[in-house]
Amino acid sequence: MANIILMGPPGAGKGTQAKRIVDAFKLPHISTGDMFREAISQGTPLGLQAKAIIERGDLVPDELTIGLVKERLSRDDCAEGFLLDGFPRTIPQAEALKVLGPEIGRAIDLVIDISVPDEELVRRIAGRRVCPKCGASYHITDMKPKKEGICDRCGAELIQRKDDNAESLKVRLDNYYKQTAPLIDFYEKEGLYHHFDGMVGADNLFKEIQTLLEASK
Ligand code: ADP
Ligand code: ZN
Repeated sequence: MANIILMGPPGAGKGTQAKRIVDAFKLPHISTGDMFREAISQGTPLGLQAKAIIERGDLVPDELTIGLVKERLSRDDCAEGFLLDGFPRTIPQAEALKVLGPEIGRAIDLVIDISVPDEELVRRIAGRRVCPKCGASYHITDMKPKKEGICDRCGAELIQRKDDNAESLKVRLDNYYKQTAPLIDFYEKEGLYHHFDGMVGADNLFKEIQTLLEASK
């Protein structure tokens, strides 16, 4: 299988598509956001460093993030492909991956970018609720759990992420346009870039992504 990057602004639906892709193609799901949240909830030194940064919507420093991903990608379970979700998010991260990937036999094969207009991102993030236990994601009107406030998959009580507030979202979107959007050009030049419209609905979007991945098997 392939070594894949999934990118897009916060609220584009990366998490939802990531879950479907890794289930369908049996790939390890490497979400830097999830790794940081895990570190925070366990109170590790990395978590302590990242907590305030993440809550205000800023990016964790490149050295920390690159180190984390390097360690994770080096593990055996990534030998037959992986899905990177939320990394790289800056040009220095992409440059580091470009060197590191081939070095450890993990060169990137393709980049999937999901785009959604800002107003819709704001609406999605404002209504997003997540399961702190299994990571499932819901929306108060678009993707309701069967029982209000409770995760369908594991029964845990849903929460709103600390960075899913208007103020932090503004910072995240600013950072996205300044720091992450330039990766589109970067990966276009590398010939790896594939764009998808995130407004077509989760099912249709997954079908389109699946078609691309089936063809590049
Ligand atoms: P979203 O895509 O919804 O903004 P994520 O769960 O991917 O959320 O990431 C949450 C936060 O974790 C980011 O706002 C950022 O603070 C931090 N983070 C995740 N990935 C990276 C990265 N590659 N570089 C720097 N910070 C990151
Ligand atoms: Zn759950």
